[in-house]
Amino acid sequence: MIKIGELCTGCAACLLVCPVSVLSIEKTKAVVSDGCIDCGLCIPACPISVIQFVPKESKKVEEKKRPEPTIIKEESKKGDEVNGEGNTSNSRV
Ligand code: SF4
Ligand code: SF4
Repeated sequence: MIKIGELCTGCAACLLVCPVSVLSIEKTKAVVSDGCIDCGLCIPACPISVIQFVPKESKKVEEKKRPEPTIIKEESKKGDEVNGEGNTSNSRV
């Protein structure tokens, strides 16, 4: 969904680019009606940049719970274990 700022001058430049014709001028300001497909074409068309995207639902994403960090025990970090016969990194050429 787009939002048209209060500073809109009603120049109608945005109306010309909207592919679904949901923009119109009412009382010298642009308004958007239902049916906007969020294509974003009107945003760069505005000479004074008063059109912006707004999320349809203003959900607060930052409140999403994060999982507790996993603590790795020292015992399981021993990476120098003998690899056996499968280890070819030390073989001479
Ligand atoms: S985002 Fe696209 S469909 Fe929506 S008002 Fe702007 S130009 Fe029209
Ligand atoms: S292009 Fe911008 S200033 Fe012109 S009518 Fe659309 S929103 Fe308003």
